[in-house]
Amino acid sequence: MNSIAIDGPAGAGKSSIAKALSKKLGYIYIDTGAMYRAVALFFLDNNVEDGNDAKAEELLEKLDISIKYENGIQKVFLNGDDVTDKLRLEQIGKFASKFSAIGSVREKLVALQRKLAEKENVVMDGRDIGTVVLPKANLKIYLSASSKIRAKRRYLELLEKGFKDLDINIIEDEIIKRDEADMNREISPLKQAEDAYYLDSSEMSIDEVVSKILTMVKEEK
Ligand code: C5P
Repeated sequence: MNSIAIDGPAGAGKSSIAKALSKKLGYIYIDTGAMYRAVALFFLDNNVEDGNDAKAEELLEKLDISIKYENGIQKVFLNGDDVTDKLRLEQIGKFASKFSAIGSVREKLVALQRKLAEKENVVMDGRDIGTVVLPKANLKIYLSASSKIRAKRRYLELLEKGFKDLDINIIEDEIIKRDEADMNREISPLKQAEDAYYLDSSEMSIDEVVSKILTMVKEEK
């Protein structure tokens, strides 16, 4: 099976690019961040806000996350319920970051992600795909952009989804804090894999980044 790993900080354009790329290549797109966000939703629904809470490990036993595709779009199911539309708020991203530092959470999700990539050609995006989940990926990209640009993209994404009362400065601040936590956690921190290509998307459109990666895919063959 073929796999493309795209890692990078929040709002770098990973999911838009991975989605477009998967369409062009006829691969499945796997958004691993959505899985960590579903874990956050699960913990918050069960009144756990702290990863060190003794209840967290216990609750994990009852956590079942699965993904399905409807018209090529990834849907995330939490214990049987479709929670896809509840995952995008930055508040959920913040808690996803907090809970994603727990070893047993990562073990569970990494196993699911690897299983999916065994059966299909995939474009997978996240924080540890090139370093941990798919170390043998055919192509690895580390995608970044300035925090201002990333905040603007996240702001527009939320606006489009109908969220109101958004403050771009607060969004930027939250993104910076989340990246710091993701880059400095003990287990599977966000970092560029040694064999990953670094791409800065600050001055590039999604189409430009996608074409660039498609050229790299051809060169890898
Ligand atoms: O990519 P997204 O913003 O949806 O990810 C939410 C959070 O989930 C990240 O900030 C990160 O803490 C965590 N995550 C992770 N490993 C991944 C994907 C996401 O730790 N592969």
